[in-house]
Amino acid sequence: MVWRATRWRVRSSGDAVSDVLVIGGGIVGAAITERLVRDGCTATLVERGGIGREASYAAGGLLTPVHPWNYPASMLQLDAESLGLWPDLVERLRRETGVDVELRRTGLLTLIVTDDDEAEADRRVAWKRERGERVERLSASEAGDLEPSLHPETRGALYLPDLAQVRNHRVAPALAAAAAKAGADVREQTTVLGLLRENGRVVGARTTAGDLRAEHVVLAAGAWSGGLLGDRAPPAARTRPARGQILLLRARPGELQHMVLAGDQYLVPRADGHVLAGSTVEDVGFDRQVTVSGLRRIAASIERMAPGLASAPVETAWAGLRPDTPDHLPVLGHVEPGLIAATGHYRSGIMLAPVTAEIVRELVAGEGRRDLSPFDPHRASG
Ligand SMILES: Cc1cc2nc3c(=O)[nH]c(=O)nc-3n(C[C@H](O)[C@H](O)[C@H](O)COP(=O)(O)OP(=O)(O)OC[C@H]3O[C@@H](n4cnc5c(N)ncnc54)[C@H](O)[C@@H]3O)c2cc1C
Repeated sequence: MVWRATRWRVRSSGDAVSDVLVIGGGIVGAAITERLVRDGCTATLVERGGIGREASYAAGGLLTPVHPWNYPASMLQLDAESLGLWPDLVERLRRETGVDVELRRTGLLTLIVTDDDEAEADRRVAWKRERGERVERLSASEAGDLEPSLHPETRGALYLPDLAQVRNHRVAPALAAAAAKAGADVREQTTVLGLLRENGRVVGARTTAGDLRAEHVVLAAGAWSGGLLGDRAPPAARTRPARGQILLLRARPGELQHMVLAGDQYLVPRADGHVLAGSTVEDVGFDRQVTVSGLRRIAASIERMAPGLASAPVETAWAGLRPDTPDHLPVLGHVEPGLIAATGHYRSGIMLAPVTAEIVRELVAGEGRRDLSPFDPHRASG
């Protein structure tokens, strides 16, 4: 589907050329396109399937890392900046497209389940408070009062009242619609087959709809990004898929009010009563099937966290492929002249989409004002 014709410039050679060609219409590519056209660029967004149907659909929509204490300072800084950009983005999408992506501060209860959680709880409280975040350590009965669905044997919880979520599957389509409204050329069902290079510079892409040329090409093809670079991919930019499965329950609205986390497993209550339960992290290649063993693990975690939900009807289940990298950090920066990577967001791409769009805008504009070395495609990578 072609959403809207772009304002093409025509070179003297006769080739149509836009300022920026964005490859991949997930939340990252759509956010970048929307940001660039708002800045006055001409931009084309090319998506192999439908906008936002891959990892960006499959996610849980938590706007927080699952275990922030395990992240390097450079990532925490990106997280903080991105979180600050979300409210404006949500407002803009509502105004420009009428779509409500349901940014809701439902708060998060991190359950104290293991001896290790118990031992770490005070340190984590201190870690959060040092960063100026509100956090409380709750006893078992306080946690139960706040969230009656919790397992009666829950030992306690850390309560983070400010943490938020979005209805992630709505975000990329809304961003693409806003971008198209502002003049972007959004092309679905158009596959990039390879990059066009001339005189040592990437100048566009070969697609199933012909060649598309641009001054800058942005690679935002999620788990598939590394494949498009082929042998030229620097090690840090060799993205690989990390499958995650989600089970969607249909509970009563309000039955679960807070996001709940235990270890790596979480429950995310939507405003309409749906509860997402997830997720697995599996190294199975480009396979996004839902499996019995994956669902069994998720079902067991529901029973451990909020056993009452075990009798809620299952609406559906799905899986998506997170774009992982060897060091699990995003890849943001020039891969080669003319080609900017904006990929590898692994478990944080929903949260990081707004700041990623801002970073790409700066790179396109040639504003070298931030240190991107931890995310450099050419960094030494584990
Ligand atoms: C189960 C699960 C739970 C998650 N939970 C969270 C969460 O709670 N919070 C969070 O922040 N993140 C979460 N994530 C991670 C997040 O979903 C990803 O980091 C993010 O969606 C990556 O966005 P993307 O646009 O880079 O990739 P994608 O959404 O995968 O988009 C890439 C797009 O590129 C397209 N493409 C690929 N190759 C080509 C080609 N050759 N030509 C044209 N188009 C191409 C694809 O079709 C796809 O639409 C979760 C992920 C999963 C799977």
